[in-house]
Amino acid sequence: MAYIITRLCTDCVDMGCVEVCPVECIYELADEPTPERPNMLYIHPTECINCGACEPECPWQAIYEEEEMPAARAADVALNALCEERPSLFVIAKMGRDDQGRLVHKPAPAGDAVAKNKAKWGVGD
Ligand code: SF4
Ligand code: SF4
Repeated sequence: MAYIITRLCTDCVDMGCVEVCPVECIYELADEPTPERPNMLYIHPTECINCGACEPECPWQAIYEEEEMPAARAADVALNALCEERPSLFVIAKMGRDDQGRLVHKPAPAGDAVAKNKAKWGVGD
């Protein structure tokens, strides 16, 4: 079992999860996104040690343990597996740094943005 990044991550990609992963098993696209490979991060299903450190760090609540995935996002398990099946299309995700070497975080989602994003992807509270 591994943790799964769902489509709720799409276009957020603030990398909070990457900062805490102890085994660098979270990947991003090596090239431009496509409909089959959206702009999000992907957890390598074999490299993930199932530690759970990433899940509470995601401000968009986009990460689930595989066995607790909401039914509406079941297809995202196969989406994450792409980084194992087609490794040439992915690179290990790295947080950006500013010109003084500090890690760059995106602003936290405001107001009801998290709830709206969940609803967009068919996930309830
Ligand atoms: S913290 Fe959440 S939304 Fe941000 S990149 Fe990681 S999984 Fe995606
Ligand atoms: S569960 Fe642990 S090992 Fe797996 S992606 Fe999250 S932080 Fe990395």
